Amino acid sequence: MEQTKAIFLLCLFSVFITVYGQKKQIIIVDPGHGGTDNGAVGINGLREKDLTLKIAQAIVHYNRILLDKRYDIYLTRYGDTLISLGHRTKLAKILDPKIFVSLHCNHANNPKASGLEVYVFNGSIPKQSLTMAKVMDGYLQEQLGYRSRGVKRANFQVLRDNREVCPALLLELGFLSNTDEAVHLEEKGKIKALGLAILMGIKTIME
Ligand SMILES: [Zn+2]
Repeated sequence: MEQTKAIFLLCLFSVFITVYGQKKQIIIVDPGHGGTDNGAVGINGLREKDLTLKIAQAIVHYNRILLDKRYDIYLTRYGDTLISLGHRTKLAKILDPKIFVSLHCNHANNPKASGLEVYVFNGSIPKQSLTMAKVMDGYLQEQLGYRSRGVKRANFQVLRDNREVCPALLLELGFLSNTDEAVHLEEKGKIKALGLAILMGIKTIME
């Protein structure tokens, strides 16, 4: 009798997993840098590692309060810690996400360089990844007051390591070397707006 009960519960559990477990799409958000790796440092002292984490936290926040936890969002780091590039993509291999989005801020010697960039791997990738990048680029351009520098291709490790795992995008969210953009990123509301725009860009991609 006990055995029947156990089997029944197991069946119930597997039905639950089938019905509810597969409903949510998994997304990995990768806040660039962390720990001893500050990333770029802005002319106003802003550190890329802090900005990318705050933007990632805003994405999680809006998924909770606006989208009723529609997506299962995992971050590659939740605090100010240094995670190797290899470990960031290991998470993707385990979780099999629908998309991997790496967050960064730019820096250039030319103080006038400005705008947003969306990167995909420069080797062979599914056509779907390029389409996703274009959708994200278009969406961010439409929603934020930034100039788009377009979809670009590069041999970044997080993109390369994910090429056979899931579609992966790397976003460069403004130049810390540009006065206007660095000041813009200093405002708390702007970080939230970036997080919201990225989340809604992901939602547009998923639809
Ligand atoms: Zn970076």
